Amino acid sequence: MQVERVGVVGAGQMGNGIAHVLALAGYDVLMTDISADALGAAMALIDKNLTRQVSKGAITEAQKNATLARISTTGTLADLGQTDLVIEAATERETIKQAIFEDLLPHLKPTTILTSNTSSISITRLASRTDRPEKFMGFHFMNPVPVMQLVELIRGIATDDETFSACYEVVERIGKTAATAEDFPAFIVNRILMPMINEAIYTLYEGVGSVRSIDTSLKLGANHPMGPLELADFIGLDTCLAIMNVLHEGLADTKYRPCPLLTKYVEAGWLGRKTKRGFYDYRGEAPVPTR
Ligand code: NAD
Repeated sequence: MQVERVGVVGAGQMGNGIAHVLALAGYDVLMTDISADALGAAMALIDKNLTRQVSKGAITEAQKNATLARISTTGTLADLGQTDLVIEAATERETIKQAIFEDLLPHLKPTTILTSNTSSISITRLASRTDRPEKFMGFHFMNPVPVMQLVELIRGIATDDETFSACYEVVERIGKTAATAEDFPAFIVNRILMPMINEAIYTLYEGVGSVRSIDTSLKLGANHPMGPLELADFIGLDTCLAIMNVLHEGLADTKYRPCPLLTKYVEAGWLGRKTKRGFYDYRGEAPVPTR
């Protein structure tokens, strides 16, 4: 099964990066979002990130221009009908993703592979509500997509080998590395990473350390490139909470209970870098801890 045209649904943090790396590798990309502003912002960001790659000597000006020329945008989901592969990267809410698939399905070719970039929602459950569970799987990029090397490929219970191989080939063509995960809550990376971040928030909540001492400890004591609270702000605290809830409910184990302090930050709308406040305040020149 040859993939040439790829549809990307959702032009947020992840969608723009996914469109960027696919187009750079030669795929024709059609990106859609319910927000026209998000589509405009995504194209501007892709341009900016490609320009940075040119200035670092990673790609040429000609490659940048060819990449931009391969990406088009549309506000109409049905326009994705003729693509060979769809990567859904909309907001992490099951009802939203389900509604997208329902609206999209009547327009798709029977051979189109449908995938989701979800961080934690059951691939098997999302697949079961489509007309093609055997052609459905998880295609999980890491943030920021142009920088991070890993893609988790998650098979639902019904995913067939042809679909898996076609997705594996896409990962290879974009120069990234695939890790295969079974379809259990939060897969591999977030199953391990999120409880660590949640534990760092408990450590803060219980007064064991300050924001700075916790981040410094993990950076200098465990050689992590970013502290866990800094990383939580980068991912988005709403996304962190959503993933902890999926782990808690999906595995029915109290060890995954989200820290009440994480819930409080989300209730306050302090979601991290994207809202300029989380465990750090980003409104000034340098980030300042909020606790
Ligand atoms: P985001 O909030 O930056 O972007 C989501 C986009 O989806 C927004 O532009 C929104 O307008 C759009 N959207 C919402 N409803 C839509 C609809 N019905 N049709 C089309 N577009 C719609 O979120 P994000 O961080 O890019 O996350 C997107 C997905 O990627 C989620 O499933 C998330 O779990 C996953 N993911 C996120 C990260 C991360 O670090 N942020 C990492 C890996 C995977």
